[in-house]
Amino acid sequence: MALKIRKAAVIGSGVMGASIAAHLANAGVPSLLLDIVPDSLAAGEEAKGLTLADSAVRNRLALGALARLPSVHPSPFYDDAFASLIEPGNIDDDLHRIRKVDWVIEAVVEKLSVKRDVLERIERYWRTGLIVSSNTSGISIREMAEGRSEAFKAHFLGTHFFNPPRYMKLLELIPGQQTDPAIVSGMAEFAERILGKGVVVAKDTPNFVANRIGTYGLLATLQAMEAGGFTVEEVDAVTGPAIGRPKSATLRTLDLVGIDTFLHVANNVFEKTDDPAEKAAFAPSKLLRELASRGWIGEKACAGFYKKV
Ligand code: NAD
Repeated sequence: MALKIRKAAVIGSGVMGASIAAHLANAGVPSLLLDIVPDSLAAGEEAKGLTLADSAVRNRLALGALARLPSVHPSPFYDDAFASLIEPGNIDDDLHRIRKVDWVIEAVVEKLSVKRDVLERIERYWRTGLIVSSNTSGISIREMAEGRSEAFKAHFLGTHFFNPPRYMKLLELIPGQQTDPAIVSGMAEFAERILGKGVVVAKDTPNFVANRIGTYGLLATLQAMEAGGFTVEEVDAVTGPAIGRPKSATLRTLDLVGIDTFLHVANNVFEKTDDPAEKAAFAPSKLLRELASRGWIGEKACAGFYKKV
C-alpha cells in the first residue's frame, strides 16, 4: 500500500524533531512543528513588553528551533528556502491541527511518562488513517501505546531516525504487537522512496537494534576512558578518522546526541535487563552524570565534552 503523506506534524522541536521536520521539507513534505508553551518569559521578551499570551512567546521553542536550523553546520536542509515548509506552533494551541495531517511524529524527551501523555493528547484529535509514530531511541512501543484504543494502536509504530536525519540513511521501523502490517510496509516504502532512507524493521526490544549495539559501544569506550585516564582528544583521535570512522566517532557523537538524552537511552536497557553483565555495561556513566549535573549536555547547550564558541 503506497502511503499518501501530504502533510506531517512533528511534536517536539529539539535536536531531532526540528531536523526531522527539516528532512521532511527536503522531501517536499510540509509539517507543523509543535513544542510546549514556556511557563515564564525570557529576558528579551520581557523587554519587548510581550506576555505569556503572545504567540511569539507561546511558540518560542519551535520558532527558536526553526531559526537555528539554517545556521546548523552541516545544514539539515538541502536548501534553506525549504524552511518555509515548516509551520511552528505549540501543543496547547495547535494540536487540533493534526486532524488535517497524514502522519504525526512524536519526538519529545526520551521518558515513557511524557511520551504516554503526548500520545494520550494526540488521540483526542486522532482519526482513522492518521499514522502516529515515535522517534524513541529504545522505549517499548507496546508500553508507550498502553491505554490507547485498538484502532489507534493499529496505526502506531516506531520510526527511529538517526542524527542528523539529512545525512544518516538508516531508519529503524518498530511495529508494536498491534501495528497494521500494511502501515509498516507502506511506511518502509515511503521512507525509502521519498525520504531516501534505508529501512530496517526491528523488534520491540529495549533500544531496538542500532542503539542496543551503539550505546553499548559508547558506554564501553567511556568506561575504558575513565579506567585508563585517557583524554577526550586521545579517545576521539583513536576512534575517529585514524581507523576509518568519522571525525565525530565517539565523544563528539555524545555532544551531538545530547548527554541528557544519551543517559535516558542507556537507561532504557539498564532498567529492563536482568542480565548482570548487561546491567554493568549499561549502568549510568559517572562521567556523563557529572557533565549533565553541570548542564554540559552537549551541542544544544554549547558545552559538553567540547565547548562551542
Ligand atoms: P531534546 O531534548 O533535544 O528535545 C526534546 C524536545 O521535546 C524539547 O524541545 C522539549 O521542549 C520538547 N517537549 C518535551 N515535552 C513535550 C511535550 N509534552 N510536548 C511537546 N514537546 C515537548 O531531545 P531529542 O534529542 O530531540 O530527542 C527526542 C526523541 O528522539 C527522544 O525520544 C530521543 O531518544 C530520540 N532520538 C534522539 C536522537 C539524538 O541524537 N538526540 C537520535 C535518535 C532518536
